[in-house]
Amino acid sequence: MSDCIFCKIVSGDIPGDIVYQDDDVLAFRDLSPQAPVHFLVIPKKHISTINDFQPEDASLVGKLFLAAKTIAKQEGMDESGYRCVMNCNDDGGQTVHHIHLHVMGKRQMTWPPG
Ligand code: AMP
Repeated sequence: MSDCIFCKIVSGDIPGDIVYQDDDVLAFRDLSPQAPVHFLVIPKKHISTINDFQPEDASLVGKLFLAAKTIAKQEGMDESGYRCVMNCNDDGGQTVHHIHLHVMGKRQMTWPPG
């Protein structure tokens, strides 16, 4: 999608601090990290929100989590732990409408979130 900032990172039109990619998935460090390690895992194809997932995306959704655990291990936080969050629309706190899995670690998380 031409006006989507994350599609522009996928295409290379704007830079991203990329930590992982394969045919379907890209992961890059968050510009405004909320933890010592904070990266975003996105599908390369544009999907706006969780509400837009289709049954044929089931494998792709799984790949986001498989990438998350691979990178978490690379970052040395698989054993200490980490949090995965995907926000949806305004009340969920979603600001970029290209779905992304936040993966945050290397600090103790609290619950409930704000
Ligand atoms: P959300 O509020 O869940 O939609 O999260 C969007 C996230 O994208 C925020 O944590 C932003 O800091 C992050 N973000 C926005 N633009 C960029 C960018 N160009 N590179 C990396 N992270 C970004």
